Amino acid sequence: MTEMVRKVTLSRAVRTMQDLFPVEYNFYPRSWILPEEFPLFVTEVRMMKESDPSWKPTFIVKPDGGCQGDGIYLIKDPSDARLAGSLQSRPAVVQEYICKPLLVDKLKFDIRLYVLLKSLEPLEIYIAKDGLSRFCTEPYQEPTLKNLHQVFMHLTNYSLNIHSGNFIHSDNVNTGSKRTFSSILCRLSSRGADVKKVWSDIISLVIKTIIALTPELKVYYQSDIPAGKPGPTCFQILGFDILLMKNLKPMLLEVNANPSMRIEHEQELSPGVFENVPSPVDEEVKVAVIRDTLRLVDPHKKKRKDIQSQTSEHVSETREDLLDAGPAGGLEYETSKNPEAGLPSLCLKQVFPKYAKQFNYLRLVDRVAALFIRFLGVKGTTKLGPTGFRTFIRNCKLSNSNFSMASVDILYIDITRRWNSMGIDHKESVTFLAGMCLQAFVEAFFCLAQKKYKSLPLHEQVASLIDFCEYHLAALDEKRLLCGRGVVERRGAAVTCPTDGLEVTPALHAPLLNRTAAAGKLADCRSHRYPAAVSPGAGRD
Ligand code: ADP
Repeated sequence: MTEMVRKVTLSRAVRTMQDLFPVEYNFYPRSWILPEEFPLFVTEVRMMKESDPSWKPTFIVKPDGGCQGDGIYLIKDPSDARLAGSLQSRPAVVQEYICKPLLVDKLKFDIRLYVLLKSLEPLEIYIAKDGLSRFCTEPYQEPTLKNLHQVFMHLTNYSLNIHSGNFIHSDNVNTGSKRTFSSILCRLSSRGADVKKVWSDIISLVIKTIIALTPELKVYYQSDIPAGKPGPTCFQILGFDILLMKNLKPMLLEVNANPSMRIEHEQELSPGVFENVPSPVDEEVKVAVIRDTLRLVDPHKKKRKDIQSQTSEHVSETREDLLDAGPAGGLEYETSKNPEAGLPSLCLKQVFPKYAKQFNYLRLVDRVAALFIRFLGVKGTTKLGPTGFRTFIRNCKLSNSNFSMASVDILYIDITRRWNSMGIDHKESVTFLAGMCLQAFVEAFFCLAQKKYKSLPLHEQVASLIDFCEYHLAALDEKRLLCGRGVVERRGAAVTCPTDGLEVTPALHAPLLNRTAAAGKLADCRSHRYPAAVSPGAGRD
């Protein structure tokens, strides 16, 4: 997760989604990765300026892996990006600076929202109903060459503004340099703003961002947690940093995998003598997040629930369902025999799968990642070798007279070489041999989709190719399953099947089995027929 939310990785993941769904993902500022995309940055900015001479942009440069405002600076022109020295060794993201943020008391502020990623498969997301608003300590002015360097005016980081003489620690959640987000919403609501819309836009931003992150996360996950074993129950509390624009549109700034859970702040009693004192605003928001996370992931509760459901036929709803419906839906907690009966109501609200229907169409890269994982082969790896890529092409029937296996190899080498030369894969560059990472596979997949379904928009091309691949793989699974039994019955004729390199025409084939069922049965029958080392699994490399 820490890898996934680095500024460069997040920007790449969101950009892939922007390529597929530009309108849905317009909540992330236009970004470029330095130094490799510097020429592109220069060219695109020049072109945009030419087409709109009144456009006077500002950009913000943020070092990859930085936090707390570390190394961040604003520029007016691409040529001001500091490419020499530290940036060379430290990649960075440069993005369009949002010049018109919403101001409260003439100050810029951002929102820190806590999000619980409770489970990856199935995807379960909870959002805290309150968050923190962190204020700048100098009145905001739109960026000019004169004020670009004033961090207390432009950067909302608590860790920076705490050092400003204007920082106000307050016991009141409605005032001071750190307030609850709900207090801001109350204020907006009293001015007639549609705060329900603000919330639903924020929920949608969070779900879409997580949808952008999950494909690669799953690749890492499968390499660490053996298939078929439940593994440890993983969850993560994420900190989403969001900026509200003047028109109340939320924009994603970044995601933190390790958000601060401190509920105290330092106070200088006398020069050089500091004391930790409680911070009521932090306490109000963070304690609830931790408390609810523990309630939701508590394994003992699950055990109790399992026992209860064995003894009572009436207990059909899960505790989470009740909790989810609790504060918003008005359902009261069961009080009898409920050890949590005395606890305050939930602050974490389930948003996924609750709103899954509205967002599932966006999960295309997730399905591409599932194909990638299937062909990875060797456990523990996160990169696809050339043989795995060829097997993918062969099993999905993507090679033909126009696209020979030699072209497949060239595509593999071209794309893999380029991605590996970017040197962004911090985790693996040392540990594993080079191969094709997920993003490179996604790029190759998009290329294949464009080739095969020329006239459609990109997301339709990709969706069509995924359907095509899944169909052929399901057919192959079914064939293998039947082969596991030694004989295939096809339209009355018994066809003996070889154990590998199967060719099957799906259109002629009997109705496909449910994919998961087929895969499950296949695994069963393989484990009977083949010793693990010679199993004809599709993922062999
Ligand atoms: P860090 O991890 O160092 O805190 P962020 O991406 O959160 O980096 O940026 C730091 C601060 O800079 C944010 O809290 C916000 O106030 C400001 N900021 C970042 N990106 C933008 C942007 N695109 N437009 C306007 N302000 C931004």
